[in-house]
Amino acid sequence: MARRSMMAVALPFVLLAGVTSRVRAGDDRVAWLDPYREPASRIIGEAVGSTFAWQRLSILTDGIGNRLSGTPALDRAIAWATAEMARDGLENVHTEKVMVPRWVRGAESAELTSPARHPIVMLGLGDSVGTPADGVQADVLVVRTFEELDAKAQAARGKIVLFNVPFTNYGETVRFRSAGPSRAARHGAVAMLIRAVGPAGLRTPHTGALNYANDAPKIPAAAIASEDADRIQRLADRGEKVVVRLAMQAHFEADAESANVVGEIRGRERPDEVVVVSGHLDSWDVGAGATDDGGGCVVSWEALRIMKKLNLRPRRTVRVVLWTNEENGGRGGLAYRDQHRAELANHVLMMESDGGVFRPLGFGFTGSDQGRERVRAIASLLAGIGADQVSPGGGGADITPSVQEGHVPAMSLEVDGAKYFLIHHTPADTIDKIDPIEMAKCAAAVGVMAYVVADLPERLR
Ligand SMILES: [Zn+2]
Repeated sequence: MARRSMMAVALPFVLLAGVTSRVRAGDDRVAWLDPYREPASRIIGEAVGSTFAWQRLSILTDGIGNRLSGTPALDRAIAWATAEMARDGLENVHTEKVMVPRWVRGAESAELTSPARHPIVMLGLGDSVGTPADGVQADVLVVRTFEELDAKAQAARGKIVLFNVPFTNYGETVRFRSAGPSRAARHGAVAMLIRAVGPAGLRTPHTGALNYANDAPKIPAAAIASEDADRIQRLADRGEKVVVRLAMQAHFEADAESANVVGEIRGRERPDEVVVVSGHLDSWDVGAGATDDGGGCVVSWEALRIMKKLNLRPRRTVRVVLWTNEENGGRGGLAYRDQHRAELANHVLMMESDGGVFRPLGFGFTGSDQGRERVRAIASLLAGIGADQVSPGGGGADITPSVQEGHVPAMSLEVDGAKYFLIHHTPADTIDKIDPIEMAKCAAAVGVMAYVVADLPERLR
C-alpha cells in the first residue's frame, strides 16, 4: 500500500523528465507534437496520481456485480454510469435505447456417472438450449479436432461429444466453442461438452457464446474445467465406457430493453467531429465482469473525466460509449451504427478497450499509413509509461459495425495479455486480478490518445 502511494507521487516527475529529453532531441518532423507534450504530461499525472479508476471499477463490480444482457444488474449499471457521468460534469450524458436478447442460464450441473461418480465443474455455453428436466445421460465420445469427429461420425450418434482441445490461442480454440455444438449435432450427438477455452486454471470453467448453425438440431452445450476433461480423456484412453449426465435449464425469454450509455466533452471548434472511446458494460453472468469489460469501460470514461477535471477541451468532441450486449448479440454496436448513421462520416476515430486493463503496451490501429504515422507520434508521448507501441489491426466487436459502414479509423487499447484468458468468462473475473497502477496507466494512455487526436489541427485520416 505504502509503495503504491509513493509511486503515485513520484511517477509524474519521472515522466516529465522523460519528456524534456525528447524535446531536446529535437525532431522537426514531429514539431506539431510539441504543444501536446504538456497536456499529455498533465493527463498522465492526473491518471497515475490516484486510484480513482480502480475504485470506480470496484463500485461497479462489487456494488453491482456481473451484468448479463436483460438483467436488473445491467439496468442498475446503466443507471449508475449515467448518473456518475453527469456528476463528473460530462456533457450530453444520455442513454440510447437498444433491445437485447435475454438468455437465462438457470440451474445446471454435470456429473460423471460411470465408471465412477465424480461431479464435473461446468458452465453452460451462452445461448445454449437446456436439457429435458431430468437431464440427458449418455456415453461420451472424446475428440480433439473436427476432423477426428467427422472420421468417427458413426460413433457420435446418441452420444455426448467432448471436444478436448487444449488452449493454444483464443482464435484457434474458440472455434470449437462456437461451431462445436452444431458439428456434433449433425452427427446425431445429444449434447456437447468442450474443454474450457483458456489456459489450464485451477478447475475453472469458461462460459462464452455458442453459435448454432441453421441446418443442425440445437443440442445443449457446456464448457467443463480442463481437469474434468483430462479425467474423461484418461478413462476413454483406457477403453473405459464413460457416462455423463448433463442437466441445464438454459432458455431464452422475450427481448428486453437496454441501452448504450453516452457522455461527451464537446469540441471547442468542431463539435460535430467525434472521437469515440468505449468499452462494453454488459458481461457474462459469472464472476464480476471486472476484466471483461468493466475495466475497459472505466478507463475509457476516465479519459473524459480527466479532461474535464484538467479543463482540457479539445477542438473536436470526445465521446465515451459504454456498449450493451457485446457478449451475446452485439446489439449495442449495431444500434449505434443505425442511430448515428448520418454522422458516421464525422467520426474521426473509434477506439474500444476490451482486452483487459493490465500493463498497457500501446494501441492497435487500423487506418491509413498517414494516420498510423500520426498515431505513432502521439503514442510516443506515452513512452514514459511504456504504452508507446502501435501495432497493426485495431478494433473491437462493438465498434466494428460503425467502423465498416463509415470507413472510420479504428483503434484498440493493447495491454499485457498474459492473465486475460486465464480469467476470461469465468467466476474468477474479479477486480483483485487488476492492479490499480496498471489500470491508471491504461486510463492515461486512452486519455492522451483521445485528447490529442481530437485536438489535431487537421483531422486524422
Ligand atoms: Zn469483452
